[in-house]
Amino acid sequence: MQNSFSTEIKFTFLQKVYKKAHYINDLPEGYTDFSVLRPEYRKAIDKDEVYICAKDPTDFFAYDAFEEPEIIPSLVQLVDRVNNGGNKKEMVKKWVERWGFLEESASFHKRLERDLKNLNSISALDTAFNALFTPITAKSERYFEKLSEFWDSATQFVHLWRRYQQITNREIKKLQEWISFEEKYDLIKVQIDGEHFTNATNTMEDIKKDPLYYYQIAGFLYLVEKISVKARLGMQLDVESLLFESTYTEDFIKVMPKIKVGNLRSALYLRFFLLLCQNNQKICALCGRPFIPTRSNNLYCSEQHKRTAKSRRQRQRKTLQFLKGKE
Ligand SMILES: [Zn+2]
Repeated sequence: MQNSFSTEIKFTFLQKVYKKAHYINDLPEGYTDFSVLRPEYRKAIDKDEVYICAKDPTDFFAYDAFEEPEIIPSLVQLVDRVNNGGNKKEMVKKWVERWGFLEESASFHKRLERDLKNLNSISALDTAFNALFTPITAKSERYFEKLSEFWDSATQFVHLWRRYQQITNREIKKLQEWISFEEKYDLIKVQIDGEHFTNATNTMEDIKKDPLYYYQIAGFLYLVEKISVKARLGMQLDVESLLFESTYTEDFIKVMPKIKVGNLRSALYLRFFLLLCQNNQKICALCGRPFIPTRSNNLYCSEQHKRTAKSRRQRQRKTLQFLKGKE
C-alpha cells in the first residue's frame, strides 16, 4: 500500500481595510460595475443602489483573515442585528471599517505580490505590511463595494453558518424545515429547499429508526458541497518561504506551501470548510462562535451565553403570558 502524502500548508489572506467609509450613489469616475453581469446580482440592480466607498483610499490598515477568530461571529451578529431591525447602512459601514469589503480585494493582492517580488524578499508578513504603505497608483484598484452585493454575500454566508449550527446542535425540527426525504425509483432521495440532492438510503424504515442521523448527514453533505465550491473561487497554490541549508556534503532545499484566495468572502468560506474538516467544534446557539464543547449536549460557547439565552427565553415567555392575559 502506498503511504498517503501529507504536509503542512499555510492559509493566508491579507485583507485591506479602509479606515473611513461613506456611501455614494454613483461609481467613482473611470470605474465600471461588472457585478451586474453576474446573474446572482441582476436582481439587485436598483435605481436606489448605493456603494460603500473609502473616504480616503490612502488611509488603510491590513490583517490576515486566517488569524482573526472574530470575523465570522461579527458577521453573524451583523446579519442578526440588521434582521432584527437594526440600521443596515449604518451597521454595514461600521463592519466594513473594521473588517473591509467582502468582494473587492483581488487587485490589491496582485499589487502586493508585485511589490513583494520587487523587494526580492520572502520573509512574509513584515515585508507585506511594509509594502502596504507604498502609495496607491494603480487605477485598477477598487476602493468601494456595492451595498446589495455585500449584503447578499453576508446573508448567504450566515444562512449556511446557521444551518451548520442546527446540525451540530441536533436541532431536528429546524433541519426538517429545509431537508426532506422522498422515495424515488426504489431509493430514498434527499430534498434540500425542495430540490433533489443525493441518495440517502434504501428504505424509509432506516430513516424512521434514526432520523437525527439521516438529517445530520444529509445537511452536512449539502454544506460540504456548497461551501467547498465557494471556498475554491480564486484559490491559488503559492509559496510562503524558501528554506535552504547547505553543508559540506549535501543541500537541503524546500519551500513552505501556502493557499491563497481572491477575496475576504472566499477566505471566510475556506475557514468554514476547514471547520467542517475538524469535526470537533460546534456553533454557539447565541453568538454564532465556533467552540469546542466540553459535553456533547453543550449548546453555548460559555456559561454566560447559556445564562443569557435562558433569561431571554424567560423574558419571551413572560411577554407571551402578558399578551395572553390581555386578550
Ligand atoms: Zn456564545
